[in-house]
This record gives sequence, C-alpha cells and structure tokens, in this order.
Amino acid sequence: MAEFDVAIIGGGPAGLTAGLYAARANMNAVLFDAKGVGGEILNTDLIEDYPGFASITGRELAEKMAEHATKFGLKVEIQGVTKVSSDGDRKILEMADGTTHTAAAVILTVGGEPIKLGVPGEEEFNGKGVSYCAVCDGAFFKGADLAVVGGGDSAFQEGLFLTRFGKKLYVIHRRSTYRAQAILQERLLSIDMVEPLTPATIKEIGGENIVQWMDVDHDGVIKRIPVDGVFIFVGFKPLGRELFEEHIDHDKDGYILTDSNMRTNIPGVYAAGDCRAQLARQITTAVGDATTALLHAERYIEELKHARKMFPNAPREVVAMSASRMDTLRFAADATIIAEGAAADRLYVITQGRVVVTRTGADGAEAEINRLGPGDYFGEVGLLTGASRNATVKAATPVEVLVLNKDTFATLVQSSQATANELRMVAETRR
Ligand code: NAP
Repeated sequence: MAEFDVAIIGGGPAGLTAGLYAARANMNAVLFDAKGVGGEILNTDLIEDYPGFASITGRELAEKMAEHATKFGLKVEIQGVTKVSSDGDRKILEMADGTTHTAAAVILTVGGEPIKLGVPGEEEFNGKGVSYCAVCDGAFFKGADLAVVGGGDSAFQEGLFLTRFGKKLYVIHRRSTYRAQAILQERLLSIDMVEPLTPATIKEIGGENIVQWMDVDHDGVIKRIPVDGVFIFVGFKPLGRELFEEHIDHDKDGYILTDSNMRTNIPGVYAAGDCRAQLARQITTAVGDATTALLHAERYIEELKHARKMFPNAPREVVAMSASRMDTLRFAADATIIAEGAAADRLYVITQGRVVVTRTGADGAEAEINRLGPGDYFGEVGLLTGASRNATVKAATPVEVLVLNKDTFATLVQSSQATANELRMVAETRR
C-alpha cells in the first residue's frame, strides 16, 4: 500500500495535465489508467483546435503530453482503479490487482465511452464491421462502402478520416441539421463520395458473419443499403461515478457535477475533462479544468494540515469537509478583517502574518486587547453566541487566513464534544 498526496484516475489530456502540475509542484502524486496514457485523443486522427498546434495527430499530442508530465517526474501506473471510498480524511483506492492505496485528494479524469445505437445487429457485429473508432479501424476498410452515424463533431471528424479509405460514405443523421462545427460540415459534405441521408435512422445492421447491409429508415421509407462498415458516433457516456462508494453528485446523464474549482460534493475529490458536466468537451477545456482541479487540490491538502492542527479532536471526515469548504483570503497590512459591531458570519484561521485585535472602551477609545499569529483563529465568539462582533481585527502585516462559513463552523462544533469545549474555552477568554 502506498500513500499519496494526490491520485489522478484517468490518463487522457485532463489527467496528464493534472499530473504535470502535480509533478512540478513536487507533490507525491500518481496517475492510474487501466489502458495506458493518452485517453480518447488516441482515437482521434487530426486535432486542429489545440492552440499552438495547427494540425497534430491525436497520438502525437497524447505522446507529447505524457512525455512532458513524466519528464517532470509524474509517476504513472498502468492499472485500473475499481473502487474509491473515504476513511476519515483519506481516500482509499482499491486496485484491479487487489492492492489498496490511499491519497489525500483524488482527481477524477476518466472520460467516458461511446453510446451505442441499440439496434439489432449492432452488438453482434461489433468488431466485424461495426466500429466506434475510425482511427482504430478505418484502414481495414480500403475501397469499402461505409456509413457514419451521427450529426456531431465526432461523426464529421471521423467521417473525414474514413474518406481516405472508403469508396462511398453515407452520413446518417436523425435530423436534417447537424450540430458539428461548420468547418467540418463544409469539408465532409463537399467530398464526392459522401452521401448524406437525413432525416434517417438505422433500424438494423446485418450480414453473414460480417456486416453486409443496414436497414435505414430514410424520411419514412425503409431501405436496405449494402455497406461493409458502420461507424457509430451518437454521443458519449461519462464514466467515473460508479467508482465511488459514497454518492457523488452528477447530472441526469451521469456527468459529475463540480463547482468552479472542480470540487465535487465529496471533500478532496475533484473532476475534470469529459467526465465532468460542462458546456464544451474539448481538449482545451479539459486541460484548463484539470489545472484548476490540481491547484485547488494542492491548496486543499495544505488546508487539511491546518485544519487537523486547529481541531485535533474533530472526527477526520469532518476536518476533511471543513478543509474542502475553506476559502483563502489575503489582506494587506492595516486592512480591517473584522469590524466591531458587524454581524458574525465566519471563522478565520491565520496561516501567515499577524493581526491586532482592538476593542472600544467605555471612554470611546480603541484599545489593543490581543495579538494573534499563524495557527491562531478568531471570529468564534460571535458565531458561538450569535451576537455581533465584539472587537475589531486588523492586519498588522500582510495576512493570509483560511475562512470557514457559519454552517461549516456549526458542523465542526457539533462533530465532537472536545472540539466544542475547546472553542468555547477560547471564546470565554475573549468575551
Ligand atoms: P454529440 O455532439 O452529442 O453528437 C451526437 C450526435 O448523435 C448528435 O447529432 C445526435 O443527434 C446523434 N444521436 C444521439 N443519439 C442518437 C441516437 N440514439 N440515434 C441516432 N443519432 C443519435 O457527440 P459527439 O459528436 O461525440 O461530440 C461530443 C463532444 O465532443 C461535443 O462537445 C463535441 O464538440 C466534442 N468533440 C469535439 C471535437 C473537435 O474537433 N473539437 C471532435 C469530437 C468531439 P441530435 O443532433 O439530433 O441530438
């Protein structure tokens, strides 16, 4: 069993980016992938929308990304993760070979898999003429009659690749307008061998041992069309949520929900790339989101250390929850952090710098009553009593604080009697 700071699950562009940043931050990180690194882009022929590379093959870009991350020391293990659970503030990763590892944070970048059409013959002829990857299988179909199914970017991009091999390519789409980028539509539909059939749906795929025909409902008329290969690109099903023992929030299609820092609802678990609910499933967004996820995970691990020290008696899972909901704020010297008389809504934990605490006396003059530094907290009195702030806290130097909101503070107080007692004792001396 190995203990990591961060475990990245999935070796596509998102995972390799998180890995690169983790390695450069000198974190004890590992990337697990059952199949090897590269992910979905290995199945993509030409990539023309990744800045800096006007045109690069998916394989080449994947190799460059993997080389880059491993050059900076990322540890990659070709092995599947079968289950992720939480034990206190650690995540437990069960591996396909029966071993177990732990990590403080997990970044989920597992992507997804193609959606099936669900028509008779599709499953039977999978690998015998039915394919979900033109780049992998296109070359087996030299001079063949082919069909590509779908109206999105994948169907059009993969269809373009297939025109190198086939002699005829049907584009079968259930509506008469496509959702693929205009440039891909122009390119594919202007090629002579390409014949669009819309609105059209495949009813059945058949043949003797290998695909020989497909029955297509074209505008209400069913026709049997001879083909040697049917390439299906009707969307994508995200993976990842099935790995988690606890509930991980997802949308109705199974995409993992995160906030803008890529945090899921499970403390210490992040998601980025194609498995995450988002507007655009692009390599550019995957790498950007993975960067955010890793940088936040790095911060979370630091916050976890502070939270453990601050609340040694709180259950570890509550500490993890508190750390995952903390925000970092920075104040310039002389800035007011808390103003006497204001509503009490958060607790502050000092990580850097010093503050000075003042209170207005009976004569109306402000007097210094305390000085606090790294490791100290303030703001608990108002939260415990429900009263407004009884003192002003100002930054004596540039200050960095971790901030806990009211609800997180309340959960922490309720989590253990010892934590509640300790907070109340400190508060008592400051009332
Ligand atoms: P997609 O955009 O969801 O398109 C799926 C297509 O399949 C749609 O045209 C849809 O029809 C059709 N479809 C869905 N279910 C069907 C069914 N049961 N029967 C028949 N047709 C069905 O999926 P995608 O093309 O795989 O792309 C996924 C994401 O990756 C997109 O965000 C895309 O932009 C991105 N991507 C980008 C590139 C790139 O070059 N930048 C390349 C590949 C993918 P409707 O249109 O009627 O819904």
